[in-house]
Amino acid sequence: MPEIVLKHITKRFGKVYAVKDFDLVVEDRDFVTLLGPSGCGKTTTLRMISGLETPTDGEIEIDGKVVFSSEKQINLSPDKRDVGLLFQNYALWPHMTVYQNIAFGLENLKWKKPDIKKRVYEMAELVKITDLLERYPAELSGGQQQRVAIARTLAPNPRVLLMDEPLSNLDAKLRMEMRSELKRLHKEIEATFVYVTHDQYEAMTLATKICLMKEGVLQQYAPPLEIYDNPKNIFVGDFIGNPSMNFIESRVVDVNGKGYVLKGENLEFNFTPKNNLDNLSIGQEVIVGIRPEDIKISADSANRCVVYSTLPSGMETIIKANLKGIPLTIVTFGRVDFEIDEEIGVDFDSYNYNVFSKSSGEKLA
Ligand code: ATP
Repeated sequence: MPEIVLKHITKRFGKVYAVKDFDLVVEDRDFVTLLGPSGCGKTTTLRMISGLETPTDGEIEIDGKVVFSSEKQINLSPDKRDVGLLFQNYALWPHMTVYQNIAFGLENLKWKKPDIKKRVYEMAELVKITDLLERYPAELSGGQQQRVAIARTLAPNPRVLLMDEPLSNLDAKLRMEMRSELKRLHKEIEATFVYVTHDQYEAMTLATKICLMKEGVLQQYAPPLEIYDNPKNIFVGDFIGNPSMNFIESRVVDVNGKGYVLKGENLEFNFTPKNNLDNLSIGQEVIVGIRPEDIKISADSANRCVVYSTLPSGMETIIKANLKGIPLTIVTFGRVDFEIDEEIGVDFDSYNYNVFSKSSGEKLA
């Protein structure tokens, strides 16, 4: 049974549509990330699921129960929705110990003292803070405080955990650590997670499914690698992946036994689509999208580029280059060191193109 269902959800603030006719099904035990640029409606969507925001229109179900319906005039308050909430500013109570912070919600729910104690210790063990239970928040590092906040949210055992950029106050190293903790936690507690982030890397690495939004409208909802390999449109292709996909304006000029011939201003490609063979026609204007790692450095290639800059990170090297007026970003595993203005050859892996319509931006093949 799906855990969360949003049907035709719209939220208007005055004339601004924060979310427009939005449909989403989050399956039981999914880890869904709501991803998109600033202002695209991620937080509003999460708040509507939690009950902190009231949709203008539509219906929301959690665990088979309608919790909001504009038509049936149902609107359950947040505490009746069985969801845990974790926000960026997860203020812990400063005058309470870690133990008391975790126990607080359970006391409000009228749990018995021995049950509370058992649960606090279970949670503390889960997020590895058992030795910190007697400390006050001010005596903890940012990462430790974050773990306490997670334990506090999970203690009442919500089936659904809603999180809004919960790691954004942490430094890069801690954030990476906490991501891996969250991913383990998600498996261990068998709950459904919905997680707001504007960071595509975070969304890619954590999610079982990414829900990518733009201006309140759903762009694509799929597992991370499917979105990466098969972006539905130019916006998705551009937003997912770092460094970004290369886009090259071209035209379909020929069809041969192997596939299509695409011609850009100073460049000709052979393209063999993996699927959607019939979607291209001769004369069509297209945008070819190529991931930086699908461009290979090849000394003998006839495609000659001039190096603009080389950015080594140790594990990989990013090369910015110019191919007869076309700016390219290339990622190569390992270490290379090209001089500025050095001439290099590049090859394209013709199976890994994404071909988009120039007029609509939708993926054709
Ligand atoms: P960010 O990543 O910057 O937090 P977001 O994707 O979470 O952005 P929302 O906060 O959901 O975006 O906002 C979506 C749109 O709704 C924006 O245009 C925002 O200005 C508008 N909006 C959100 N809350 C309100 C409000 N209370 N009153 C008026 N407009 C609002």
